[in-house]
Amino acid sequence: MAQRVALAEGGNKKTSRVRVAVRLRPCVGNSDEKDEGPCVRGLDSQNLEIVNWRNATETVKYQFDVFHAEQTTQQEVFRSSVKPILQHILTGQNASVFAYGPTGAGKTHTMLGSQEQPGVIPRAVREVFNLVKAKEEDGGWDYSIGMSYLEIYNEKVLDLLSPGSQDLPIREDKDKNILIPGLTLTTISSFSDFDKHFIPASLNRTTASTKLNQRSSRSHAVLLLKVVRTQRDLPHRQQTGKLYLVDLAGSEDNRRTGNQGIRLKESGAINLSLFTLSKVVDSLNSGTAVRVPYRDSKLTRLLQDSLGGSAHSVMITNISPEYEYYFDTFNALNFAAKSKLIVNKPFTRETVAAPVLSVKRTREDHGVRGSVTEPQKKRLKEERKTEQDGSSPSAQIHSPSVMDRLLALEKLMMSCQDKDKQLKDVAQSRKEIQVLKEKQKELETKALLFSRLAGEKSGATKESIFKNNTAPLQRKPSTATTANKQKAVVQPLKVSQLQPLQQLAVVKKQSVCVKKKERKLSDQVEGPDGKENIMEHGWESQLDTSVLEQSRQKILQVLNTGSLKDLKGLQQIGDKKAKLILGWREIHGHFTKLEDLGKVEGMTEKRYSSFMKTNILSAMGK
Ligand code: ADP
Ligand code: MG
Repeated sequence: MAQRVALAEGGNKKTSRVRVAVRLRPCVGNSDEKDEGPCVRGLDSQNLEIVNWRNATETVKYQFDVFHAEQTTQQEVFRSSVKPILQHILTGQNASVFAYGPTGAGKTHTMLGSQEQPGVIPRAVREVFNLVKAKEEDGGWDYSIGMSYLEIYNEKVLDLLSPGSQDLPIREDKDKNILIPGLTLTTISSFSDFDKHFIPASLNRTTASTKLNQRSSRSHAVLLLKVVRTQRDLPHRQQTGKLYLVDLAGSEDNRRTGNQGIRLKESGAINLSLFTLSKVVDSLNSGTAVRVPYRDSKLTRLLQDSLGGSAHSVMITNISPEYEYYFDTFNALNFAAKSKLIVNKPFTRETVAAPVLSVKRTREDHGVRGSVTEPQKKRLKEERKTEQDGSSPSAQIHSPSVMDRLLALEKLMMSCQDKDKQLKDVAQSRKEIQVLKEKQKELETKALLFSRLAGEKSGATKESIFKNNTAPLQRKPSTATTANKQKAVVQPLKVSQLQPLQQLAVVKKQSVCVKKKERKLSDQVEGPDGKENIMEHGWESQLDTSVLEQSRQKILQVLNTGSLKDLKGLQQIGDKKAKLILGWREIHGHFTKLEDLGKVEGMTEKRYSSFMKTNILSAMGK
């Protein structure tokens, strides 16, 4: 296997690629999760497939250098993915092994393992001692082995063999070797010597992690083994080989998984190192790298002389079989994969419905201040999964919140993929999303129709709804055409806001939508998800209504038609949020009203409120 890694003979600039192995851990969840079956499975020693969230009748197939199925032993992972590269560090070359993947997928199990099932680290250390012993018998060279153990947390380099030390600098010497002045390098002469230093340092780290809110899942643990060999005879040449064994931070998006209490800076820093690692691996593996962005993060800077170039690198991507990890698994595979293929066949009968959630329209849907046509439909897409009651038409739609998240994830992840693939994926996903939208609209129209009927005429049976489904609530004045018979009678949001309440009374009895609307109008501001908005009304009420409305429209227009740059031009909208907004638009078409912004990932009521205030004041030049 090692021979597949290109060697830089004679110190030329040839860049080796990173070998990628994927390891699927066995299901360790409760029996419910087991019953659900896996969402991903191996096909052979290189290929695996995962359910396609976009189309449940398809799977996405990936090919890797090696695929380790659930039952693969620690011994086998070591033998096939790690052992072959170890010999090189005895001859002055560098190597690195990473465990990548979401928290809980088996990175630490793979790298560290347990007493009964030791992982890559103890096995590699033992093997290096064995190799050195064998080589020493050959004669000619003396070997010495040193170890360092560090953690990169929040873009700080911390010495785990010297607890309490401060952030250490990373430097490069004139021969382009990366070093960390001040980092403890302990000489070890046997495996038990290694254990003596490593175990307490690991324990320190674990203790710190529990105290510091799952810190270990957000830091990179890096073990360095340094083998220096010196020629016994003149000219006493010396060669140094380094092996980095890295248990990476969890690849899941901490914000998405609702890891509360995490500071944005911390989360961003972890993402920075992982994100940069993905760019580095990508550019090494694409073979077209003009500049490999090692310097963009601490992790990649540290690994600069041991990843790419003449180094030998293996990334073991750990994944979990359970559905609850689906998005993280999908994301991790896309990061790790150099190729993927959509295969037109269902994964299993049971799993085809994976990303499909049932939706029941809630009170909020019965028309608040908007038209019950397009805006209503858009809002329907935003509904959280709720249980269907027996009387509702069976409107099964793809949950927008799931799709929202996926799209956001895809957008983040796309920067790790090669450009051509990106374009194809985007085109493909647009097409598919369009099809989904059409289907969804159809179902929503039915659901809407039912709810309106049910609201007005509680005795109506399911049967009668469908018998009368040509505009049952159609009481709009004669301007209504046949085509929009099913549309609601209330005015669009912006008009409603400016209308006096008594005008609305004209349509008051016509539907439950109007009743709700009236109540909401008195509240003036509706929050996302139908909750009362926490926006303070004080500052708004002091502004001229028409100017306020103009500002709102201006912002709405940017949200709906603005480019990434335009969106970032808005107050409190950074790159990530702007991308999420673009993603939202991709699925839902456009924002019917500003409050829809609250449906975008990460836009809490508080943020929305503050966003509105600063942007309206800024649009008004205040
Ligand atoms: P991570 O470090 O990626 O967060 P862990 O290594 O802590 O994940 O694994 C999570 C759980 O799954 C642990 O209880 C671990 O023992 C178990 N586990 C992971 N991989 C395997 C495997 N290949 N075989 C058996 N158990 C595993
Ligand atoms: Mg771990």
